[in-house]
Amino acid sequence: MATQRLYYDDSYMRSFDARLEECVSAGPVGTPSGTVPVWEVVLDRTAFYPTSGGQPNDQGKIAEARVLDVRDEGDEIVHIVDQELDPGAVHGCIDWERRFDHMQQHSGQHLLSAVFQERYGLPTVSFHLGSDLCTIDLRGPEPTADVLRGAQKAANAIVFEDRPVNVRYGTAAQFAEQGVRKEVDREGILRGIEIERADLQPCGGTHVRSTGHIGLILLRRCTKMRQDWRVEFVCGARSARVATNDFHVLRTVGERLSCSPEESVAAVNKMAAERDAQFKSLRAALQELAEARAKLMIGGNRAGTNGQRVIAEVLEDENPELLLLLATELAKSEGTAAMLVHAPTGQLVFAQHPSTGNDLASLLKTVLATVPGKGGGTRNFVRAKLAEPVRSAEALETAKNLVIGTKQHSLERHGS
Ligand SMILES: [Zn+2]
Repeated sequence: MATQRLYYDDSYMRSFDARLEECVSAGPVGTPSGTVPVWEVVLDRTAFYPTSGGQPNDQGKIAEARVLDVRDEGDEIVHIVDQELDPGAVHGCIDWERRFDHMQQHSGQHLLSAVFQERYGLPTVSFHLGSDLCTIDLRGPEPTADVLRGAQKAANAIVFEDRPVNVRYGTAAQFAEQGVRKEVDREGILRGIEIERADLQPCGGTHVRSTGHIGLILLRRCTKMRQDWRVEFVCGARSARVATNDFHVLRTVGERLSCSPEESVAAVNKMAAERDAQFKSLRAALQELAEARAKLMIGGNRAGTNGQRVIAEVLEDENPELLLLLATELAKSEGTAAMLVHAPTGQLVFAQHPSTGNDLASLLKTVLATVPGKGGGTRNFVRAKLAEPVRSAEALETAKNLVIGTKQHSLERHGS
């Protein structure tokens, strides 16, 4: 039997009396508080809105049972509840805060879509009412900041006029004659939502009775979504919540920067410029340090018997930036291979003067086969990051033995 949909003609009905026609066990379902047994309830009439047309379902209570979900199944509306209920008279009660929030967002969406289409020629191709943010997808050229600001202003002007929002019934042809925003080709009598002198749109959802109830409409980001433009918005109580959160973020940023929220952008720009300048002078200082240390290390390391100088070092307290600069400096000396690893981070750099003749790329592969990590490079320069920084010294020892071992081996071969 078809369920009578009370919300079609009175979207402000918060509670209602009905007759329970059917209650059947539907097996357990997963909820945030664990798996619970549920029942499917069908009433002769209901004010509960089922998930459909982009609007989420209502919640609330039927008798003592909590309504977890509401589904539109053809002519019937099925309520998913957490208790078995007896047939007969029942009282239903809707979670009004949730429903009214949906009515504000959904009505705001109609109004925004109408304004974007009428004033800027940007039709809405789809919309989404999320639990935090709502979006409409517009087709056409990118909406500029001026267009977004203009649409917000025009929509809010209609909100402040508190125009009536009416439910109208008619055929698709009748709606087309009356200038419906988006023509449909469905048969029979359709339900339309009219915002007086602004919009007419077929819709089965729940809406406010006048635009004043939408409350303030706030547009947020606009991003490209495939070929369309996705505009985020919030209405009514959500606008206040979002704006309050935004101000909290700004105030916190201002406090950290010791300035007012209004001055925070200038303060962040100044801070970024200072950071860039400090980074430059740090680089210069590290470069000087690398040159000086390289000189000392070369001086204290005579070339080994195999004709190459292998400098292997584990760095502990140094800035990891030094690793690359120091290795590069060391590799400028003829016959020198530098193998450096930064123990706290597991970063590793091997660099050599081309005259040494090792193949560092294949050497690194061999090292990483024993001590796991990711990296690569050329014959004369490689860098890597070890998966376990605690094995830095082990990786370095393996690499060093490979270089010395290869050379000695090839020398021995030469000698024989
Ligand atoms: Zn609607």
